[in-house]
Amino acid sequence: MVDVVVVGAGCVGSYLATLLSDLGLEVLVVDKDIDVADSVNCSGIIGLKSFENFDLPKHVIQRKMQDIVVHSPSGSTVEYSPKRPLAYVVDRASFDKELCSKAQEKGVMYKMNCLVKDLVISDLGVKLSVNVNGQRQNIHSKMCVLATGFGSKIIGKIGLGEIKDFVQGAQVEASFDSLEETQIFLGRDIAPDFFAWIAPSVENRCKIGLISKNKAGHYLKKFLKNDFLNGRIDSVSKMKVSLLPMGSLSKSFSDRVIAVGEAAGQIKPTTFGGIYYGFVCAEIAAKTVQRAFEIDKFDESVFSFYEIEWKKKILNEQKMALKFHKVFSAMNDERIDSILNLAKRNGVISLVDKFFDFDFHSSLITALLSSTYKFWFKEEKIS
Ligand SMILES: Cc1cc2nc3c(=O)[nH]c(=O)nc-3n(C[C@H](O)[C@H](O)[C@H](O)COP(=O)(O)OP(=O)(O)OC[C@H]3O[C@@H](n4cnc5c(N)ncnc54)[C@H](O)[C@@H]3O)c2cc1C
Repeated sequence: MVDVVVVGAGCVGSYLATLLSDLGLEVLVVDKDIDVADSVNCSGIIGLKSFENFDLPKHVIQRKMQDIVVHSPSGSTVEYSPKRPLAYVVDRASFDKELCSKAQEKGVMYKMNCLVKDLVISDLGVKLSVNVNGQRQNIHSKMCVLATGFGSKIIGKIGLGEIKDFVQGAQVEASFDSLEETQIFLGRDIAPDFFAWIAPSVENRCKIGLISKNKAGHYLKKFLKNDFLNGRIDSVSKMKVSLLPMGSLSKSFSDRVIAVGEAAGQIKPTTFGGIYYGFVCAEIAAKTVQRAFEIDKFDESVFSFYEIEWKKKILNEQKMALKFHKVFSAMNDERIDSILNLAKRNGVISLVDKFFDFDFHSSLITALLSSTYKFWFKEEKIS
């Protein structure tokens, strides 16, 4: 019987496991993959604030992200060059491995190739039925953290419901002749309702990704042949496609179990960055678990604190992002073009400078939807 089993050795699972071990708890992390980071599909773009607020490995940083070029559907561009870098681009696989090594140094145990099939919760603890090399085993703990990423069936099995709305994220890595700025591409034929990106990483390499409601793989294949990329990329890696939640769990805990990270929908529905929100919520989860062990109580009276606090931090952000997404997805290519052309001429860049925060987007969205620019988002005023 260990104190806590964390299901999922992704960045959020390992980060939280370290926090719990620091509190003196006995922690076991289990993951279905053979090696940590086997299932990683991520550009590894993490705001600077994350490295200031959390103890994260710096030597996996590939570069700083500063200038951004936005391409309109018709091919015109708007450049945003902030005074300071916005984020770091990390090698996400190495990032997760480093977080795992750090957790192990702190005494966290790992069991890989261990698929959790089911959980049974009782007054005494949690019994996990796992599959290790095709063999059924049981693991017992006082409580369990689900850090499984999005889409695990266990979440529904223990009555936490499901996040019904989701999108697809596809990505490849490739060689690319000297590219400095991060490129964002908009257009209904490129990435319907969402966007595609090219993020330079190490020298002459980049991550090319795309989010769309459906068929992200199909759209990314098409995108790789567009005018900007054609003939300039080489050594393209195997494409990975993953599901990403559009919204969060209405209930993120039950007796003896809490869900954290993407499993709970703790992600930005604007850019689909999930690492920062995952760490913010992991810190809240650690405080809650500490309290639970102090008073030996693992039910709603303690765990509701976790849900109230994380929702205070990010739920309004998520709601605002979903509202903005509704406005954006109602626009056709001509409207997106007009808005980007207006953005070049008007003072919108100074508004972005004033309100943009890499991890919290509601101030900028509110500013855009309520300032003199609000008419940009209304059909009749755009011409
Ligand atoms: C194309 C793409 C690009 C992205 N780019 C960025 C970015 O630049 N910046 C950013 O912040 N976010 C980005 N994201 C999102 C980010 O990758 C996720 O939000 C983040 O990985 C969530 O971390 P996590 O630890 O919650 O889950 P994960 O990293 O998904 O880890 C979950 C772990 O749980 C394990 N697991 C699942 N089910 C079980 C089970 N039943 N038994 C045992 N183990 C199990 C899995 O094997 C996995 O290792 C991107 C996503 C995509 C798809």
